[in-house]
Order: sequence, then structure tokens, then C-alpha cells
Amino acid sequence: MKKTLTLLILICLNLFFSWNAFSIQRFPKPEFESGYTQPDTLMPSARAEILAYMDVAVLILALSFISWLVLKKRSRKGVFWTSMFSLIYFGFYREGCVCSIGAIQNVSLALFDSSYTLPVTALAFFAIPLIFTLFVGRTFCAGICPFGAMQDLVAFKPMSIGVRLNAILGLLPYLYLALSILYAATGTDFIICRYDPFVGIFRMNASFGMFVFAGGLLISGIFIARPYCRFLCPYGVLLNWFSRYSRRHMTITPAHCIQCRLCEGSCPYDAIEIPVTETKNHDNTKQRLKRLIMMSFIIPLLMVVGGYTGYLLHETLAGVHSKVRLANQVINTEVSPLKAETFEIQAYKSSGKTQAQVLKEAGIVLSKFKKGSIILGGFIGLLFGLLIAGKLLKRHNPDYIPHKGRCFSCARCIDYCPVKAEN
Ligand code: SF4
Ligand code: SF4
Repeated sequence: MKKTLTLLILICLNLFFSWNAFSIQRFPKPEFESGYTQPDTLMPSARAEILAYMDVAVLILALSFISWLVLKKRSRKGVFWTSMFSLIYFGFYREGCVCSIGAIQNVSLALFDSSYTLPVTALAFFAIPLIFTLFVGRTFCAGICPFGAMQDLVAFKPMSIGVRLNAILGLLPYLYLALSILYAATGTDFIICRYDPFVGIFRMNASFGMFVFAGGLLISGIFIARPYCRFLCPYGVLLNWFSRYSRRHMTITPAHCIQCRLCEGSCPYDAIEIPVTETKNHDNTKQRLKRLIMMSFIIPLLMVVGGYTGYLLHETLAGVHSKVRLANQVINTEVSPLKAETFEIQAYKSSGKTQAQVLKEAGIVLSKFKKGSIILGGFIGLLFGLLIAGKLLKRHNPDYIPHKGRCFSCARCIDYCPVKAEN
């Protein structure tokens, strides 16, 4: 019986790891005689469809399991081991692709370019963690995202960086999200994938620059826990919003808070909110109303300023698009014809395209960037406004509670609470 079981397991494992052999190659890689070497690609090799669906199934199962661990079992150990599984499966085995963070770009491109077909798995990896977050908080960050798991491993001596620095650095992911949507929607580039710090480690092929970037993040992560998650991750912005409205969320205490303060400094991510009482913040209805009226003027103003800044920056932002870059080079060659020709100019000359065509194509891209930059600038202004409003209109909270948006549901603080569950 034992032998049969071992044989069965071995057959299953063999099937599992060799399934990629069924991946469809549409045509063989061309072979060059000129000495040209194939460039490194941003994506791993093609994967059989059934395996892609299996990834989605693993994602759903892992999310369900970790949500149960966080909310019902309240087990930090369980969360840790689940995150190790995710690091191995979604990180090293799946080589960080498809990932929910990068899927933002697929979804953005699909929304703005009708000729792009959104892969079902990319949509699933984008939407499923957000749906779970809406019900149970950021359990995805707790132990499913391999990026978070990797940074969690090195957080040996986490220290608090203070409310102000947290708030200022916390604005960076909004900017990164806005830029990644703009560049994906205009078909310029998938910058989240291009500047992904950890994927090079998962695939063991990081360029020197990315290796330094990832190394810097991991070294700083020893003292400032999860720097990528807190101050860069664009998907974290969406998870943060969804989590604020989650139906259920992990709590530090299983019953009532006895204000013992033992959990106060236990969160490595500064995500525990200390009690704010009515008397402490001298809040009253009149003051709240005043602030509300003030914010109703400030928020539209910030949106206009953001939109105008976007308008001013649109040409610079569009400069990285290949069509705009070519048009700039064509104009420069006209102005200084003695300059050495770039590869782009050589390719343009041999393509037979006219200068007018090149400029027209660049003009279309520029007008997309103009619209997109204004919208995204206004959107960033709105977010700034909402963040200020959140600070000014802070509700009174009598207990130590995790901030629903910023808490990664890692379950660390649970172990610090001396209160036992009530039967
Ligand atoms: S914040 Fe981003 S990188 Fe960090 S765990 Fe969440 S999704 Fe992953
Ligand atoms: S569960 Fe949330 S509040 Fe508690 S330590 Fe983890 S991130 Fe901090």
C-alpha cells in the first residue's frame, strides 16, 4: 500500500513539473547567422493553459486558507508557513509571473486599447485578491504575495519611522500607480515589470542594476520592514482602499481591549492606531463641520493643480514612447545633420516612412498623453485631498486597532495581546 502511494505521488510530481512541455510554441525561435543574440524577455516562457488555470486555483485556495488562519485561527505561525509556500510557488516556481501587481498594466491596457486581449489569468490575479480584501482585509499581503513574503523574511530589526515620514513616503505608491497606468494605457511600456526588483531574483537572472535595487530594498528591509510594500507597491494602493471597506478584518485582541499597551510597538509596519478619545482631540460637531467645508474647497483646488501639473508634464512623460522618441530624433537630425545616426533613425530611413507620417504618429501619442496626464494629475490631487481630509476628520477610536488600510494582516500583533478569547 505504502509503495503504491509513493509511486502515485512520484507520478503526480513528475506530471506536475513536466507539464510545461505541453506549452504551445507558435513557431520555433529564429536562428541568426549574424552573431545576433536573443535579448532577455520580461516574461517567462509560455505555459500550458491548464497550468495557468491551476495557478488561479492555487491562488484561491491559498487565499481562503490564509484568511481562515488570520481571522479564525489567529495563527502567526500558520501565516508564516503559508507565506513560505507562496514564496516558493508564486515566486521561485512561477518566477513571479503572472502577478497581481503587474496585472494592473494588463487591465489598464485592455481598458484603453480595444485591440488588446486581456488574458483571463491576468484578470483573475488582478481581481481575486481585491475581492478577498473586500471581505477579509489584506490577507493577500499577509502571506500570498511572494514580494511581501520575501521582504518579511529579512525584517529582523524593524523600527518605527514615525507618522510624518510614513505619510510622506506613503504617497510614492500613488505616483507609481498613476505612472504605470498611464504608460500601460498608452501602450508605452509595462514599467512595473521592467522595474520589478524581485523578479530577477526569482528567475536568477537579475541585471546588475536590478540586483543592486533589490539588494538595497532587502538590506533596508532589515530595519524598515517591507519597504517595497509600504512605499512603492502600486497594487498595495488598491488593496489599501478595498481593505478600508472590508466586511471583516483581523483584530489584535480576541475580545475586549484592556488598554495594557503591550501591542503598541509590536507592528513592524506602524499600522496600529493608538486610541484617540473625544477629549484628546477636542473634537466636536462644529469643528468637524468647519473642516468638512474647508476640505470641500481644498479638494477641488488640489485636483485642478494636479491636472495642470499633469498637463505641463505630458510632453516629458511622453518622451519615452518609441514614436515620440523617434520624432524627436528626426527633428534633431534635421537641425544638426552632422550628428551620428542612431539605430532608430537608420531603421526609419530604411522603412520608407515620410517625416510627416512619423510626426503624425507622435502627435497621436502626445494627445493621448495630454488627456491621460491631466486625468491622472487630477486623480493624484484628489487622493492628496482625501488623505488630508482623513487626517483632519479622524474619528474617535477608544482602542488599539489595526489601521484597516495599512495593516497587512500578518498576525504578529495578535501574539502580544494577553486577553484570551471569550467562550
Ligand atoms: S503591498 Fe504589494 S508587494 Fe506588498 S504584499 Fe501587498 S501586493 Fe505584495
Ligand atoms: S496584523 Fe496588522 S497591525 Fe498587526 S502587526 Fe501585522 S500589519 Fe501590524
